Amino acid sequence: MKNFTYFRPTTPEQAVTLLEARWGNTEMLAGGTDLLSLQKQYVAQPGRVVSLNGIAGLQTVVVGERSATLGAGVTLARIADHADLRRLFPALTAAAGDIGGPQIRNMGTLGGNLCQRNRCWYFRDEHSPCLLRGGQRCSAIEGENKYHAIFTANHRCVLASPSTLATGLIALGASAEILGPQNRRRTVELAKFFFAPTGPTEREHTLAANELMTSVTIPVRGLTNAAYEVRQRQSSDWPIVQVAVAFSGGRNGEKATGVKIVLSHVAPTPVIAEAAARAVDNRIITDATATAAGRAAVEGAKPLTQNGYKVRLVEVAVKRALMIAAGLPRYWEA
Ligand SMILES: Cc1cc2nc3c(=O)[nH]c(=O)nc-3n(C[C@H](O)[C@H](O)[C@H](O)COP(=O)(O)OP(=O)(O)OC[C@H]3O[C@@H](n4cnc5c(N)ncnc54)[C@H](O)[C@@H]3O)c2cc1C
Repeated sequence: MKNFTYFRPTTPEQAVTLLEARWGNTEMLAGGTDLLSLQKQYVAQPGRVVSLNGIAGLQTVVVGERSATLGAGVTLARIADHADLRRLFPALTAAAGDIGGPQIRNMGTLGGNLCQRNRCWYFRDEHSPCLLRGGQRCSAIEGENKYHAIFTANHRCVLASPSTLATGLIALGASAEILGPQNRRRTVELAKFFFAPTGPTEREHTLAANELMTSVTIPVRGLTNAAYEVRQRQSSDWPIVQVAVAFSGGRNGEKATGVKIVLSHVAPTPVIAEAAARAVDNRIITDATATAAGRAAVEGAKPLTQNGYKVRLVEVAVKRALMIAAGLPRYWEA
């Protein structure tokens, strides 16, 4: 690991003054479960590391009648185990509980999860000429791409968006509070937070290099919600495909309305599957309507040479997420 200077500010404002306008030389450290591995692999080589762990207030969870606000420094374990969050937002808490293992969940934070770098093996190999580290083209497009994006049209880099908290949060209509230089604060819907990067000056999200995520707010609207993941291994790995759904009603024979279906690990950003939502919106969720939504979810998919199998996984995952949310029998567990 390259040597670096370590800073430990105690307020968000102090932290922001320590950041730089361009990515690369200064990195923020939360739980370190992603950043430290990138540093050890020489993929990230910051000269300055700004710890967020001395900042009071980033670790609070406040659940009110109209919204819940989670500090960016709240751990994944706390999200997974929080009784009110589990009751209101199972799409979020179930995903948090499935991340990594206990060590990762105890160290990893919400902000770090949403800002984590992608899992592409070309990106994470310091010797590979990855587009995101200054290479001429994305090595995965014609290389080893079995875990990469299947929605690839117009994408120069075919990474698969890694965050499994993002899907549930987007489905639930969450937004992030951001603090920038000169005390500039802004709120961004998580549906607009993620970005498909094409070079070393960009990240997988739209934060500027000198901006800090302070919290995430989720509206409390009584939405029925759930997430479903397809995993190769049950722990210590990312899913191959993940889906979160949220809607009003949709249980006990009631129609589902305002349906949101969000996919992850299938494109460089989370995908809001509008055609899939339309297939089931204003309808009773049944095996048949959930199947139709699954089929609609993969419209427009253009898999790479090795990942056509993901198309079927998305169809099934959408169907199962809808059935879980609607409280229908889990036929696959029989
Ligand atoms: C074995 C394993 C399995 C995993 N499985 C999953 C999975 O299934 N699903 C999933 O979603 N994730 C998974 N992860 C990723 C894990 O969720 C992240 O590593 C973790 O959430 C990152 O949080 P952190 O606090 O450790 O971030 P750090 O490593 O400290 O930081 C990560 C990045 O986020 C930035 N950052 C952190 N906080 C902020 C902030 N407040 N504002 C702006 N930028 C910030 C940092 O600068 C850095 O670039 C897995 C990780 C491991 C190691």
